[in-house]
Amino acid sequence: MTSIDSHKKAKALKPGSVRPAKELCSECGLCDTYYIHYVKEACAFITQRIDELETTTHNRPRNLEDENELYFGVHQEMMSARKQQPIEGAQWTGIVSSIAIEMLNRGLVEGVVCVQNTKEDRFQPMPIIARTPEEILAAKVNKPTLSPNLSVLEQIEQSGMKRLLVIGVGCQIQALRAVEKKLGLEKLYVLGTPCVDNVTRAGLQKFLETTSRSPETVVSYEFMQDFRVHFKHEDGSEETVPFFGLKTNVLKDIFAPSCMSCFDYVNSLADIVVGYMGAPFRWQWIVVRNDTGKEMLELVKDQLDTQPVMSQGNRKPAVQQSIPAYDQAVTLPMWAAKLMGVVIDKIGPKGLEYARFSIDSHFARNYLYVKRNHGEKLEAHVPEFAKRIVGQYKLPE
Ligand code: FAD
Ligand code: SF4
Ligand code: SF4
Repeated sequence: MTSIDSHKKAKALKPGSVRPAKELCSECGLCDTYYIHYVKEACAFITQRIDELETTTHNRPRNLEDENELYFGVHQEMMSARKQQPIEGAQWTGIVSSIAIEMLNRGLVEGVVCVQNTKEDRFQPMPIIARTPEEILAAKVNKPTLSPNLSVLEQIEQSGMKRLLVIGVGCQIQALRAVEKKLGLEKLYVLGTPCVDNVTRAGLQKFLETTSRSPETVVSYEFMQDFRVHFKHEDGSEETVPFFGLKTNVLKDIFAPSCMSCFDYVNSLADIVVGYMGAPFRWQWIVVRNDTGKEMLELVKDQLDTQPVMSQGNRKPAVQQSIPAYDQAVTLPMWAAKLMGVVIDKIGPKGLEYARFSIDSHFARNYLYVKRNHGEKLEAHVPEFAKRIVGQYKLPE
């Protein structure tokens, strides 16, 4: 065994056992494999390395003096986009699944790490290495829970694959980038989505039961740019609930401690990121970080309508007001929440300003959480860009 293989002697942890990051573990899957050998330098909650890994991945650091880079990470271009023919049942229009399918069909990769659901439970994540377009399509739509995507890493090495696409969220991608060179690949492509406020499967159940009129028929949901949660139900109907009407006092504890301590909302280490929050209502938002990401986008460009990113409004007063309101778990009566939703939808932040609104309010909340619950980690765990963003606001003690 050469030194590059020394990790193979390490033992994966058994399901259910305490992880090295303890309560902060986001169940990214690394510790379900012998790559646990590298956990100290790979785990996003043990050693935060976004700044350093951004430079190795994209060949330059984030430019903190440029507001768009400060917020959205290293990038070459951003745009709003949607598929001309959306994939039915995808989370949005299916840009993520379409890029993955093209990469496989054109032989750029031999497999795609993505996450399907179990037969028994549509929201229980089941990471796989897809080798056919059908398997990629079966992974469409968010499993809005912590998902151990990296638990398939041992299978990659065993399969002998040399060219791979991984789809994942920020904490999974930080751990992946940290072990990238140990995977024996010739080329790794990374397609990321933004991610925030994730929950365990039990936490998700509580959210659905407290918020939706029919929790058992929800097939997907999204916190959309119109300040409403949109639930899609099995019969195709859509239910909307204003953000400001959420039962904050009940829901405050459902977010996983990892996600209350996360500052990689925009998936800084992916080659390309596909979300929605920087785009107008019903459009998706694409951030191309480097040449590899550009190559991936080119594969589907002829399937997309695109438009330049836009930005409108002023988020700062709304963010400042949201900080103590969240802290004190203020919940408005539904009539007031609906009214506020209508008003803010008319005059509130849009496009990139909406994305900055969401980043500001989540970073402020998470900064306070880390300070209060893991104060000893605060300095090293919060990346410089997040410190600057939070520094714009007055925080309670
Ligand atoms: P689809 O074609 O439907 O493909 C979805 C892909 O996501 C699949 O390939 C699947 O493998 C992968 N996936 C599903 N669940 C998970 C999971 N738990 N972990 C890792 N990978 C998963 N975008 C924003 O702009 N702002 C947000 O706040 C935001 N929050 C998100 C929270 C979570 C937990 C997730 C998973 C995504 C979030 N996104 C967010 C991204 C957004 O919801 C869409 O996933 C994205 O726009 C892609 O849509 P699509 O139709 O192209 O995806
Ligand atoms: Fe291991 Fe991932 Fe949990 Fe960190 S977050 S302890 S790397 S499983
Ligand atoms: Fe991981 Fe952060 Fe998403 Fe939680 S919010 S699942 S820690 S990327």
